[in-house]
Amino acid sequence: MAVSALDAAAVEGLAANFGGELIAPEHERYDSARSIFNGMIDRRPALIAQCTGVADVIGALRLARSQGLDVAVRAGGHSLPGHSVCEGGLVIDLRPMKGIRVDPAARTATVQAGVTWGELDRETQQFGLAVTGGRVSTTGVAGLTLGSGSGWLERKYGLTADSLLSADVVTAGGELVRASERENPELFWGLRGGGGNFGIVTSFEFRLHEVGPIVLGGLMVWERSRAREVLRAFRELMRDAPEEVGIAAGLVTAPPEPFVPEHLRGQPVTAVIGCVVGALEEAAEMVRPLREAVPPELDMLGPMPYTAVQRLIDAANPPGLPGYFKAEFMPELSDEAIEVLVERGEEVTSPLTAVLIEPLGGAINRVPDADSALSRPRAAYAYHVLGIWPDPAENERQVAWVRGLAEAMKPHTVPGMYLNFLIDEDPTARVRATFGEAKYARLEALKNEWDPDNVFRLNYNIGPSAAAG
Ligand SMILES: Cc1cc2nc3c(=O)[nH]c(=O)nc-3n(C[C@H](O)[C@H](O)[C@H](O)COP(=O)(O)OP(=O)(O)OC[C@H]3O[C@@H](n4cnc5c(N)ncnc54)[C@H](O)[C@@H]3O)c2cc1C
Repeated sequence: MAVSALDAAAVEGLAANFGGELIAPEHERYDSARSIFNGMIDRRPALIAQCTGVADVIGALRLARSQGLDVAVRAGGHSLPGHSVCEGGLVIDLRPMKGIRVDPAARTATVQAGVTWGELDRETQQFGLAVTGGRVSTTGVAGLTLGSGSGWLERKYGLTADSLLSADVVTAGGELVRASERENPELFWGLRGGGGNFGIVTSFEFRLHEVGPIVLGGLMVWERSRAREVLRAFRELMRDAPEEVGIAAGLVTAPPEPFVPEHLRGQPVTAVIGCVVGALEEAAEMVRPLREAVPPELDMLGPMPYTAVQRLIDAANPPGLPGYFKAEFMPELSDEAIEVLVERGEEVTSPLTAVLIEPLGGAINRVPDADSALSRPRAAYAYHVLGIWPDPAENERQVAWVRGLAEAMKPHTVPGMYLNFLIDEDPTARVRATFGEAKYARLEALKNEWDPDNVFRLNYNIGPSAAAG
């Protein structure tokens, strides 16, 4: 689809019946409206349509199609490769769509597409309920759910997409349809993991689970020199830890805060971070073996609100800085993999960059593989390298470091990483590897049915098969 200049009359036609704001380059908020989480992305759309509801979404989509404009869909704006903003073209910005309705009796939540995890957790926690959510509170519910949804609760309650009950979807043709187990079940299958390929989801309905509101959460910290010892003890703990244990090990830099012992402030450290859900005493018992094996130098794992757990790593992930992430599944956390992560981790030069090692299993693998587009990882762990640095002059060097680590980790990984954690290299092959050939073929058929013109292609793109190549 070509990117073309905007037709003023067509824009006026949209404006006449538009509930939100239309932001063109001369608008005073244009620069803030086009900026996304990743400060490396600097694109100038022809128009940003900030939608307040389904009618706005349909109107904006119709304008884009009639004008032959590229369409980028934006919710939380956390797409690392910048799928949520385009050069020229139209951004369908869902951020004003903030409606949340929790039904505590039915344990469900209906959530509009502009909601972030911090906003949703606040509402659900009012009733001691939650759905597995992103680990950074500013991430969008929408993009995260469609691309899997990994969070501290995943071993107990599965991925976010596993708790999706239904979705309202504006199709490429501008229709509003519902997808659930009963209505458009094949579309519902594809939405759970297949990303933004099949339409614009305007509202999500989730099944909620009992969580907190107080859980055992926070972090434990050791000097970096003890990383190998800590990671092995962590592996030992997780070998048969209950599903309630939702923690990750991390190679991070300790913040220069008063609560950190002086000798660790601003220093590279090893950390264990996250939460354990359930009764507090039992939760403490579940992590006792790790505490005893390698007593932490700073132990801040204790009772805390789940909403605070959900913000534990916010400070290390400020919006607007350059970022480059990599993640892969690991069949096991071998001594060799630990060696690579620790050695490479010593070369980190940005205090915001983190290497996280996340145990999988539990509820994630209980969902039958055929149930959704999401493939169940044949892996016990995932590693994540979250590269974030303050100085854009360092972009090349920092990206090279993240890639170098990923390259060195290759022998210790298996394919299949969810769309949420892919990045720019060879996207076509990566998307296929995420799903495997059989599921990819099924997704391609779905794409042929719902978006044969590939209107929704600024994403980790799937098909359509007719337009492939
Ligand atoms: C700091 C940070 C922390 C993260 N932590 C986690 C984590 O803990 N767990 C996890 O699973 N992932 C995590 N991610 C990855 C994140 O889930 C993906 O980047 C996701 O796409 C972000 O969703 P968004 O709505 O914020 O992003 P956006 O950039 O707004 O959207 C990304 C893309 O998703 C699609 N999309 C978004 N909304 C819709 C919609 N309503 N309808 C159709 N398509 C849509 C579009 O293709 C869009 O371009 C993290 C990313 C960052 C940057």
